[in-house]
Amino acid sequence: MAARVVKVVRPAPTTKQWLPILIGLGVASAHFFRNLFGFIRGRQDFTVNFPEQRFVQPPAMRGMPVLVQMANGKERCVACGLCEWACPTSCITIFPAETAAEVERFPEVFDIDMARCMFCGLCEEACPEEAIVMSRQVEISSYSRRGSLWRKQDLLVPEAELKPRLDYLRAQYARK
Ligand code: SF4
Ligand code: SF4
Repeated sequence: MAARVVKVVRPAPTTKQWLPILIGLGVASAHFFRNLFGFIRGRQDFTVNFPEQRFVQPPAMRGMPVLVQMANGKERCVACGLCEWACPTSCITIFPAETAAEVERFPEVFDIDMARCMFCGLCEEACPEEAIVMSRQVEISSYSRRGSLWRKQDLLVPEAELKPRLDYLRAQYARK
């Protein structure tokens, strides 16, 4: 039996459809020639010589999720479980426990399997306490599956270090 071939008639692209492509090509070309002429004139700053040099990531960048550590050394997390529920890859594991302190609940266990995390930031969005945020940390490779399991103590980062991200989030929420 002969194969049935369906010929699809596609309309020619309109000027409106070409315009974004041309703009993109223009931007890419401008960068190419600026770098080329810069290189000819002796510019050397096209790349970062990692790891000796580090690129300072903007606050909007989403690296690995971490837990906010308050000034008293404790996590801000109250173990409500919303981030665990929101995580599409189910890579967060929380075992809540009770405490006599004001917050009443805390995560006895808070693990994130970084091998499964896809840096989507949904845990950060779901958290009502600003207790889990996306850091700028991306150097998290390991030699084993076990090495990609980050425990609560590994995830705690002092609040002061996360200030740029927290300020960025507050500005975003204020805009909504
Ligand atoms: S960033 Fe996304 S995948 Fe990673 S822990 Fe948060 S919700 Fe899960
Ligand atoms: S949503 Fe926030 S407060 Fe609730 S368990 Fe996750 S990190 Fe803790």
